[in-house]
Amino acid sequence: MLTSELIQSAARAAGFDACGAVALSALPDDVLRSFDEWIRRRYHAGMRYMERHAQKRADPRLLMKSGARTAVVTLFSYKPQRRQPPHLPQVSCYAYGTDYHETLKQKLWRLLATLQATQPTLRGRTLVDTAPLQERYWAAAAGLGWRGKNGMLISQELGSYTFIGVLLLSQEVACSAKPQPNRCGACTRCISACPTGAIVGNGSINARRCLSYSTIEKYANPLNDDAANAAKDEKTAGYIFGCDICQEVCPWNKNAKVAAHGEMQMLPQLLTLTAEDWLAMSAEDFEKIFGHSPIKRATLHGMKENVRRMKKLKIEN
Ligand code: SF4
Ligand code: SF4
Repeated sequence: MLTSELIQSAARAAGFDACGAVALSALPDDVLRSFDEWIRRRYHAGMRYMERHAQKRADPRLLMKSGARTAVVTLFSYKPQRRQPPHLPQVSCYAYGTDYHETLKQKLWRLLATLQATQPTLRGRTLVDTAPLQERYWAAAAGLGWRGKNGMLISQELGSYTFIGVLLLSQEVACSAKPQPNRCGACTRCISACPTGAIVGNGSINARRCLSYSTIEKYANPLNDDAANAAKDEKTAGYIFGCDICQEVCPWNKNAKVAAHGEMQMLPQLLTLTAEDWLAMSAEDFEKIFGHSPIKRATLHGMKENVRRMKKLKIEN
């Protein structure tokens, strides 16, 4: 039988910063209830795909045809070594480098191949934001951290600047994961710092107000957009792609380890692109610079809209 220790060591060799394994089961009722309530309040804005596959979300064992038994949850740090100059239009630091979907998928396949070398009948499925899975719940259940008031998974060692990649396995694993206590305590820094009031409860985000939705997902889900993003008092805080504010103020990120992965190194163009450069950018240049970046999700049209909105709000304020 595979052990979580063997899996953790294979995950480190594949390039992950942390890893835990947890036996899969149906989601607890209270977790399901809060997700349903989040949907009922339409906090998912135009991301209608969140409403689909309720059965699989409630019971991730259904995510593999033959039945998944174990979730191997991995963390990959993107805490940046340096930031964009503050006078430039800001991009959330998760998008400084290569698209994490590509990076994590490759590493998860490598991890699966290593495990299959010891268990040839083992089957697996890799998931990076692409399936109806409550990744942060399962990461916490795998002992990797806790869900902060800003909704992010927080690791004591890595903070919250981490991507979560999941490998579902067809076999049981001897798991030794111990869930960690929630260490937010009385802190409410993320709630106070959010420029749009998007943090509406303990770990609950109203995407209709969140800049990560209104600068990215709105353009990625254009037909589904229900004008939720049109909050009248919208602010951008200088961001044209995503937002890091509720993570930036989190004390757990202050001394978090910087893994400095090559894939996460900042594209050099992000050190110089001004608002005017963005507005003048051709489709060809956008593809050349951001063809392998998460920024392509917002589309060039979306990025230009975001720059115009940021400029307009700067003038108004
Ligand atoms: S990402 Fe920005 S807008 Fe969204 S909840 Fe965090 S601070 Fe608020
Ligand atoms: S800022 Fe404070 S409340 Fe918010 S996630 Fe971090 S520790 Fe928790």
